[in-house]
Amino acid sequence: MFVDQVKIYVKAGDGGNGMVAFRREKFVPNGGPAGGDGGKGGDVVFQVDEGLRTLVDFRYKRKFKAPNGENGMSKSMHGRGANDLVIMVPPGTLVKDLETGEVVADLVAHNQQAVIAKAGRGGRGNKRFATPANPAPELSENGEPGQERNLQLELKVLADVGLVGFPSVGKSTLLSVVSAARPKIAAYHFTTIVPNLGMVDTGDGRSFVMADLPGLIEGASQGVGLGHQFLRHIERTRVIVHVIDMSGSEGRKPYEDYLAINKELKEYNLRLMERPQIIVANKMDMPEAEEQLAQFKQQLASDDIPIFPISALTKTGLRELLLAVADKLEATPEFPLDELLEKEEEDTVLYKFEAEEPDFTITRDDDGAFVLTGEKIERLFAMTNFERDASINRFARQLRAMGVDDALRERGAEDGDIVRLLDYEFEFME
Ligand code: GDP
Ligand code: MG
Repeated sequence: MFVDQVKIYVKAGDGGNGMVAFRREKFVPNGGPAGGDGGKGGDVVFQVDEGLRTLVDFRYKRKFKAPNGENGMSKSMHGRGANDLVIMVPPGTLVKDLETGEVVADLVAHNQQAVIAKAGRGGRGNKRFATPANPAPELSENGEPGQERNLQLELKVLADVGLVGFPSVGKSTLLSVVSAARPKIAAYHFTTIVPNLGMVDTGDGRSFVMADLPGLIEGASQGVGLGHQFLRHIERTRVIVHVIDMSGSEGRKPYEDYLAINKELKEYNLRLMERPQIIVANKMDMPEAEEQLAQFKQQLASDDIPIFPISALTKTGLRELLLAVADKLEATPEFPLDELLEKEEEDTVLYKFEAEEPDFTITRDDDGAFVLTGEKIERLFAMTNFERDASINRFARQLRAMGVDDALRERGAEDGDIVRLLDYEFEFME
């Protein structure tokens, strides 16, 4: 399978911190809480741009960070929320979380968007914690941390056009002179063979992917089965470009070559012979070529299969060929390989593991200290302003409500034992 893949790191913006402040008015000594909330951070968003074909841009830039929200301010002013960071990706981009393997997004349609990392919300200012019992709280929250993730982006590059023909007829040369950009092929599923693959731009706003088909099939047949992805690939290959060496060099007989290759295509049982073929008469720059071509046409005795005389070497006849291929592609639907695909699916069992994470986990350090870990408890920690007693007390209450105290007691914690959470240490107290 042609999979263009890259690993990237994304971090959404943190929420801004809430503020502890009080109103100061003339003749009013303590005018009530006036600390504003922090603003929301920016999300990291992917958006499909159908003009993009590869993930090559991500090879140069792999780290993406959305801006943080602004902190809350005095006079009850809220911090400004940050703008989202929008990153363009080509259609067909699959986004996976590297740690869990979970599919985060499958981006297909033009302009489709997906939030890839969620921003943190702003922390609340002390104004929001005021109650009749405590009208002037010194309590505020820090902003929630933005989500950070290591991701794998995968783009399946499917060939629209398959090149066939004997070795040395000029397939690689043709591909190299007609393809505008060559996506980097990171992983080929079956073997270490990397088939030739090129993006072709016809110059009239159309483009397609052309691949060296024998390379692909050889690779696949060395694997155990043909593989689900491989069959999808072949399904998509709707037009076959049959390259023939018309120079007749090395004693080649163009018409015999043509028949031999078609016989081979038939034997693969992949409906390859049902696909429309376009014949490329290559090496027309050579002296014998015109004569060979005339003879070939006679032997073929058919007007249904178009023949394009070209020279890949001198780059003649290419434009007419490419336009004809693009036209043919537009008029040709896929050739479903349902039966083969079903057979492959029977052999494949997909296990999906969805772990439910507990609020917290207790382990012991070498020095006997109790260590608290877990996404939820760590988020609460990050949102606590440890410079103020009121906030610390609230954090203690939140832990108790989560059942942390009871769980520690159960694990044998006693008065004075050390409890650790990230870089924070406190004593357990009965
Ligand atoms: P492939 O095995 O089908 O991929 O063939 P290649 O593209 O590797 O070409 C084999 C040889 O034919 C190379 O030496 C090319 O330079 C040569 N060749 C390819 N196209 C042409 C052409 O149009 N004219 C001539 N004279 N030689 C060509
Ligand atoms: Mg080649």
